Amino acid sequence: MPTIRVLPPGLVNRIAAGECVERPSSVVKELVENSLDAGAARVRIELLDGGRELIQVADDGVGMSPDDLRLSIEPHATSKIRDDEDLYNIRSLGFRGEALASIGSVARLEIVSRPRDSDIGHRIRVDAGVVDGPAPCAAPPGTCVAVRDLFYCVPARRKFLRTNPTEMGHVGEQLARIALAATNAAFTLSHQKRVSQRLEATSDPRTRIADLFGQELAAVLLPISRESGGVRVRGLVAPPAEGRGSGKWEYVFVNGRYVRDKFVSHAIKEAYRSLIDPSRYPVVFLHIDIDPAAVDVNVHPSKIEVRWRDSNFVHGQVLAALREKFLQTNLDRRLRAPAAEDEHREQVRAAMVDFFTGRGRNLAESQAPPTPAWTRSDQARAGRAGAPARFESQEAESFPTPPAMSDHAWDVARSARSAPRDDDSLPPERGNSSATSDDAVASDDARWRAARINESSIEFPVAKPRAIQLHRAYLVVESEDGLLVIDQHALHERILYEQIARRVAQRPLESQRMLLPEAIPVPSDRHEALELHAETLLRLGIELTVSGPNSVTLHAFPSFLERLDRVQFVSDLLDKLAERGARPERDSLLHELLDMMACKAAVKAGDPLTPDEIDALLSQRELAERSSNCPHGRPTTLRFSLSDLERQFKRR
Ligand code: ADP
Ligand code: MG
Repeated sequence: MPTIRVLPPGLVNRIAAGECVERPSSVVKELVENSLDAGAARVRIELLDGGRELIQVADDGVGMSPDDLRLSIEPHATSKIRDDEDLYNIRSLGFRGEALASIGSVARLEIVSRPRDSDIGHRIRVDAGVVDGPAPCAAPPGTCVAVRDLFYCVPARRKFLRTNPTEMGHVGEQLARIALAATNAAFTLSHQKRVSQRLEATSDPRTRIADLFGQELAAVLLPISRESGGVRVRGLVAPPAEGRGSGKWEYVFVNGRYVRDKFVSHAIKEAYRSLIDPSRYPVVFLHIDIDPAAVDVNVHPSKIEVRWRDSNFVHGQVLAALREKFLQTNLDRRLRAPAAEDEHREQVRAAMVDFFTGRGRNLAESQAPPTPAWTRSDQARAGRAGAPARFESQEAESFPTPPAMSDHAWDVARSARSAPRDDDSLPPERGNSSATSDDAVASDDARWRAARINESSIEFPVAKPRAIQLHRAYLVVESEDGLLVIDQHALHERILYEQIARRVAQRPLESQRMLLPEAIPVPSDRHEALELHAETLLRLGIELTVSGPNSVTLHAFPSFLERLDRVQFVSDLLDKLAERGARPERDSLLHELLDMMACKAAVKAGDPLTPDEIDALLSQRELAERSSNCPHGRPTTLRFSLSDLERQFKRR
């Protein structure tokens, strides 16, 4: 029979440490939280060797007397709560009285502290559970905690630590989470004696966000604020069009503490739903201030989760705060394609044509459709007169075809674009801009008639229009035994996927080295993903290195994607890698990334296509059809056979 024993205190502490001291970043979190609880205005964080050799946090807070120093390293010793009642009224970041004891059990711990009203400081050391001190020493007011040789006595944990950039990445993310709430404190973070992050104290949260994540993001954020029933929701949120590739951009703070909460997350998702591209995530910096008695923070060892007394109310408040904002704000401009995006689309399209044809020229420019020389009334007349012929597809096929027959597709596609969306991104309309699709067919018919009437004496090679584009999203094509409706994005994506997959199977994708390597702001917790998957990225022609606590540097980028927004692409890519974590299946990762590249480079629903582009796209269809791999498993083509149609029209 097993014997029950009470564990020795050292082991108890190490078990506790297992929960709250996972890696250097968790030590940084506990120490910095202690500094802020001590009222520090300045916190200096220094690490050596990714935190393995040293993690030191110095502050100018209230400091500790020698007696407090002695107690601070005891388990369950805290100055922050006294009794049960206090546990439900927590206003400090710490309260469990575990951190220093836990850290002292897995590393060599030294604390030097001097209370503000004292002339002298004291030092205490804990090494493998053996306490030395407190002994007097010279020290500035405040506290400096040094943690050396983390996990030296827990080899399994030490082995688990990753490379310096990865560990520093986690440290940076922890610091960001704390610093986003404590904007009135200043922070510096250094690694190997070099300052990597300097955050000045500020009363403006936007400034802090700009310091951490860049001015570009900070500038577009919308302020939100709402107060009701003792719950205040405030913060800065990005407009839906600024979505990111991962959920990590959801920074939620409850009474100044970073938390992850499913109710709040759900409310955020709900508020952004239908405004944001479904594959993107909102960016929010959201603070909830609430009576501490209405929320339990003691539900998770690292205090990252909370339990609400009334989760529905909190959910409702967050949702309302965001909805109110979105209703008041004209998101219109942003929801429509901004000019830059249009330009980008143009470029992608040009790239696509080049890519298909190898011609290296932009067909959109080279073959502008000629302006037809008819008026609206001609069009209507011709349409009426030609109506019967419209349904005789056989007859139509035998028509001689006017020179640039693909203009026909262009016309129809243009006229069919009757929906008001994206109007201001359209090229100037010819004819009646509010033409319905009936008009479109009429105009189409008129052209056919015109061709027959005016040019029937001239012999033209019969080049049937390959397809028409409808609603800027679908291509309708006549097939041998019926018709096909093709999803332009799905098809292009599939084609690109096949093409790149084939190339990658042979050799790394061709890339372009940057003349000036480009620094890209990305949150530090992405660094690990970058390290883990660097090799896969190289195969895809992407060379990225970590260059700072919140930035990576791009050295090479696939030529094939050169017209994409690189910053956006890299940050989405790293989001994706981070989400995937350390799962080892390289091949499936490679395919996921190919998939992402293809999706990003492909024309989108909503992109108008020129006839040449339609041709180019269709001529590659076979490639997509032959492949068994379908990136998203979505169909690219719907087929309607003549017999289907006949059945539907009750001809049979
Ligand atoms: P907790 O923060 O949960 O109280 P800790 O083990 O982190 O537990 O710290 C124990 C105690 O040591 C704290 O309650 C606080 O009184 C004291 N302490 C720790 N760090 C500091 C600091 N930087 N400045 C002043 N006091 C500190
Ligand atoms: Mg603490």
